[in-house]
Amino acid sequence: MPENLLDQNMKCCMLCPRMCRVNRAAGQTGFCGMGDKVTAARAALHYWEEPCLSGEEGSGTIFFTGCTLRCVYCQNAVIAAGKTGREISSEQLTEIFLRLQGEGANNINLVTPTHFLPQIMKSLIDAKQLGLTIPVVYNTSGYERPEILRELEGLVDVWLPDFKYWDSCTALKYSSAPDYPERARAALQEMVRQAGKPEFDQRGRMLRGVIVRHLLLPGKLKEARKIVEYLYKTYGDSVYISMMNQYTPLPHVKPWKELDRKVTAREYGALVDYALDLGVENGFIQEGETASESFIPEFDCSL
Ligand code: SF4
Repeated sequence: MPENLLDQNMKCCMLCPRMCRVNRAAGQTGFCGMGDKVTAARAALHYWEEPCLSGEEGSGTIFFTGCTLRCVYCQNAVIAAGKTGREISSEQLTEIFLRLQGEGANNINLVTPTHFLPQIMKSLIDAKQLGLTIPVVYNTSGYERPEILRELEGLVDVWLPDFKYWDSCTALKYSSAPDYPERARAALQEMVRQAGKPEFDQRGRMLRGVIVRHLLLPGKLKEARKIVEYLYKTYGDSVYISMMNQYTPLPHVKPWKELDRKVTAREYGALVDYALDLGVENGFIQEGETASESFIPEFDCSL
């Protein structure tokens, strides 16, 4: 039940693999930097997700403030670092879900929800009782605990995790999380168990399923290939693989010189060719010039 999960974790937080055990109800903060009040930086229709999620109507996206991973190259660093956002009550979050549905959203897209999971669960349950019927998308870094994800059974329809690193040294260097690869594999197994086979409506909008994203980093083609190979050999066509080339070197990556450039067309093309050679059919690729700051939404606290 969300109440028990909320109570336990706000007094001794173990919602994510960091397991900080801090008392968020008493004002302590852990790695994610967030207290016990849900804080969000933007809630609006969003058109830049995979086509089966955004469609023409848009995805009803809520960007939660704070992050359990805090990658050095983060594309949404302002909200990940907790520098923007507004506190919202459980009732307000329920109203936001229903408002986005009323605006025609194809789904409710929870971006970086892990550290507020029990609070979000309560608002989702309330919204469903009040008529929320569109699919719920859980949009995460992939750094999750399967035992916590199990609490979401029946509430999430589409799982949208990243699979960022294959090598624990890379995960340590860029996200201070050497256990990321094993955590991401275990979390994905639980997501696939809950989602089952992918399902779409007649217009190609995803109703259930798992889409795993991999953002190709400069110079990390070898690791990217290992991830794609693992995903395809383990899950075949039951997960969709989204290979992304939109990495944008923002000013805060300067200390990591190797990250201070875009991914080349040659690197990205080699990854896509590798996936095709493996036999991947259920996938998404990005075309054209997508590595631009203009694709990063404006976090203006419009909720
Ligand atoms: S959710 Fe935040 S406080 Fe809780 S374990 Fe994860 S990083 Fe630590």
